[in-house]
Amino acid sequence: MALDGERGEQEEEKEKKKKKKKRRKKKRAEEGAAESRSPSQATMGEAAAAAPRPGGRGPSDPWADSVGVRPRTTERHITVHKRLVLAFAVSLVALLAVTMLAVLLSLRFDECGAPGADGGPAGSPARDRNASLPGAAPRNHPAGEGSAPSEAAGQATPATPSARPPSEEEREPRRPWTQLRLSGHLKPLHYNLMLTAFMENFTFAGEVNVEIACRNATRYVVLHASRVAVEKVQVAEDRVAGAVPVAGFFLYPQTQVLVVVLNRTLDAQRNYNLKIVYNALIENELLGFFRSSYVLHGERRFLGVTQFSPTHARKAFPCFDEPIYKATFKISIKHQATYLSLSNMPVETSVFEEDGWVTDHFSQTPLMSTYYLAWAICNFTYRETTTKSGVVVRLYARPDAIRRGSGHYALHITKRLIEFYEDYFKVPYSLPKLDLLAVPKHPYAAMENWGLSIFVEQRILLDPSMSSISYLLDVTMVIVHEICHQWFGDLVTPVWWEDVWLKEGFAHYFEFVGTDYLYPGWNMEKQRFLTDVLHEVMLLDGLASSHPVSQEVLQATDIDRVFDWIAYKKGAALIRMLANFMGHSVFQRGLQDYLTIHKYGNAARNDLWNAFSEALKRNGKYVNIQEVMDQWTLQKGYPVITILGNATAEKRVTITQQRFIYDISAKTKTFEHRNSSYLWQIPLTIVVGNRSHVSSEAIIWVSNKSEHHRITSLGKGSWLLGNINQTGYFRVNYDLRNWRLLIEQLIRNHEVLSVSNRAGLIDDAFSLARAGYLPQNIPLEMIRYLSEEKDFLPWHAASRALYPLDKLLDRMENYNVFNEYILKQVATTYLKLGWPKNNFNGSLVQASYQHEELRREVIMLACSFGNKHCHQQASTLISDWISSNRNRIPVNVRDIVYCTGVSLLDEDVWEFIWMKFHSTTAVSEKKILLEALTCSDDRNLLNRLLNLSLNSEVVLDQDAIDVIIHVARNPHGRDLAWKFFRDKWKILNTRYGEALFMNSKLISGVTEYLNTEGELKELKNFMKNYDGVAAAAFSRAVETVETNVRWKMLFQDELFQWLGKALRH
Ligand SMILES: [Zn+2]
Repeated sequence: MALDGERGEQEEEKEKKKKKKKRRKKKRAEEGAAESRSPSQATMGEAAAAAPRPGGRGPSDPWADSVGVRPRTTERHITVHKRLVLAFAVSLVALLAVTMLAVLLSLRFDECGAPGADGGPAGSPARDRNASLPGAAPRNHPAGEGSAPSEAAGQATPATPSARPPSEEEREPRRPWTQLRLSGHLKPLHYNLMLTAFMENFTFAGEVNVEIACRNATRYVVLHASRVAVEKVQVAEDRVAGAVPVAGFFLYPQTQVLVVVLNRTLDAQRNYNLKIVYNALIENELLGFFRSSYVLHGERRFLGVTQFSPTHARKAFPCFDEPIYKATFKISIKHQATYLSLSNMPVETSVFEEDGWVTDHFSQTPLMSTYYLAWAICNFTYRETTTKSGVVVRLYARPDAIRRGSGHYALHITKRLIEFYEDYFKVPYSLPKLDLLAVPKHPYAAMENWGLSIFVEQRILLDPSMSSISYLLDVTMVIVHEICHQWFGDLVTPVWWEDVWLKEGFAHYFEFVGTDYLYPGWNMEKQRFLTDVLHEVMLLDGLASSHPVSQEVLQATDIDRVFDWIAYKKGAALIRMLANFMGHSVFQRGLQDYLTIHKYGNAARNDLWNAFSEALKRNGKYVNIQEVMDQWTLQKGYPVITILGNATAEKRVTITQQRFIYDISAKTKTFEHRNSSYLWQIPLTIVVGNRSHVSSEAIIWVSNKSEHHRITSLGKGSWLLGNINQTGYFRVNYDLRNWRLLIEQLIRNHEVLSVSNRAGLIDDAFSLARAGYLPQNIPLEMIRYLSEEKDFLPWHAASRALYPLDKLLDRMENYNVFNEYILKQVATTYLKLGWPKNNFNGSLVQASYQHEELRREVIMLACSFGNKHCHQQASTLISDWISSNRNRIPVNVRDIVYCTGVSLLDEDVWEFIWMKFHSTTAVSEKKILLEALTCSDDRNLLNRLLNLSLNSEVVLDQDAIDVIIHVARNPHGRDLAWKFFRDKWKILNTRYGEALFMNSKLISGVTEYLNTEGELKELKNFMKNYDGVAAAAFSRAVETVETNVRWKMLFQDELFQWLGKALRH
């Protein structure tokens, strides 16, 4: 799954919030309250869904009671039997009668289904419980499972000495439907799912037949179901035709399950068939089976698609909706013949009926989890191609987009990417086809459903003549990501959501590897990865309030939370570090083994670590990868390594590690990390150089707080640099002497250091200074060399560090000193590169990516910091557009020109851009026009825009967030946006509260550049009134603002003084 904010803006799940509100309410209804309600009370809201249950029971009469009582009755009868034998031994007739009675009782007992021949309680499970049962891993156990008091077990005393009491694990929890995870007593093997979709009223009818293996005897069938109206439930044994009588069924919304209560126990080691007839809505929300629409030739057309990840398959059909429950699926969809239907597998047969309906029967899937099952009903058209290995790839989109050829690019690269991954992983693509479906609305950028991946249109359709390089890159990387998931995620699936970073981290890492395959000159994995992933996530993970990449997930509400930047970006950064210290070829072989061993199954992170350790072992290296990686995945944050030279012994250095924290105060407070045991095993690479010579050292594993090492190549006057090409997930600091030598080297001849080392040094220097580990002038001295820098990446790293610094200073009186200093560094390169003249086509993009991206970066810096020529050029281009009504502005710099024009020119330009924003239909163009409106210096216009942004008719809900955030970045609008945010918080939280990802983006976007004591106080006061809402995002915000305030207090003067001096020289 690709989050939409990744390289662009998040498509919004506006309807989701209502639901989450409901869910929150449900959560609040605490366990105790639930205990006191009968199942029928608990499902009042869905009363229509549950058929009348015979013998509805009172609150304190749980179904489990009857399970417990039965053996006790038997025992009593047997005891009575013994007494009868003693008392009436002389009476043959009586003895016979009693014997007959005992036999009868025993028969009755058998009928009740208790495997109680050994006297154990009903539900006594099989002896050899499989350790690999779903949920068997200790961390995956639902809280309370196993330890929950089992009424049945508690009351049942074994009748014969030979019986043994059941183990904790074997006991069925009391009221199993209240557990947060499914018990694992039942395992689905195969689903037959038949759907009839009524697109005219957006409802559907379903019948699901699930073949179930019973692992542990149980009287309840508990599986997920939500918002479906269940009409009928039947249970039967697979071979014996006899039905298992159903006592009743009910939905239990708190845990989103359907509970089928049986009149007898299902026996362990037997298979059963569960049949459920139900119906539901094709929702207007963007989850489960939902609808969306588009206009073609003035006519509104509808389509139905699915989004099941992470927990929404249960909204479309009752199922065991946890990733571990892999099964095969056979789906049939009946729909009007004017539509076509798609699913994970190809259509096997289509049966047409006379009344204009058709039923498509899809082939059976391989073993798979529910969350990447999918179907769609639409009247799209398609283009297709076939890979070398015979996989048919189709791109489905609205007919006008297909006709325009907007899908060509995606189709072409998908074919190439399947071939790439098949070769890289040495595991063929598993299905006969892969459809890519471009839909107008989707909650995420894309979703990797196996064989039917779904993309929001602006992440897959591309018109080369209208698209900038960054748009092309966005589209490319989302596709590379989703195709990677066909292996990582679909073929091999994480056991549970705590390891979602495994699939998302890999897919994110491979975005760069796969793009390198498509565009070999771009060096994405070696270069762009640094600025777009590593530097970005280190900013987030450098907060004391961060969290580990592997997060424990105990309940459904935690699941959405794990899809965040830490999972995606830190996951990817850790994988890249691993690939580099293992060596890429060994890493690749480890992956191949991992996929081969676990294909069609599930795997946890330790399975991956084992595959890597084995691959290393075959190469004669013995590294316990699990031991190393656990420190990186289970601890939050990352280390900063400090390398100090030794004044007396020149080849000796002292290397220390500590947790890197931005918050200066946190470093001195008695915080958890102060004397904490935060410790990592760090693969430190070092390069040593002097004017004439550069040499790399072997990896040093740093695993203690402080270590002494001998660096043989370190001579007098030579510098050293740690973390070569920034492949490691940590920062490196040095003594000042070494920093100065490095800066000298950059100025004298920067090419001695690689492009990635240059970018890495810049980011480390700025971040260390920001966090108070380093004097403020060091990074500013370092960027002096940039006038000679011809590569994009170091410029990109510098500008990404300079903008936030700019935001800290932009409301200060002496801000101009900073401004002037930056302009001085940019001027030479700006003049050298000039402005682009033409738009691009695909081949030009490939050839000139580095050059054009560098030019764009430098123009952006020049215009933002007020280069006169840049301003003039932007004004001329805008004026030409207004007067000629022809937009001749090169696509790659349009956003810069629009924003600069709006900030410099009068209200008429703002109105012109506003008008263009309304009239354009191109999605990418609309977005940059709207952002340009936030660049105005006019506070009235900014206020007007903020107020308009909440009108959904004018600004799409997902874009409103960007309007507010961009106004907050504008020094003239920061306080306006902050006030607007507080005034409208209730509306905003209702809108975005459900989509956690959106809400935290908004909160951090509005607050990240607040930097005065007053603003900090306002933030804290504001939070007091909304206790607990978006708590994680707000605590991050407070920490960020505190850091800003403290940085200004401690370092602002130092910075300005140095700048003043530097400019005078
Ligand atoms: Zn993903």
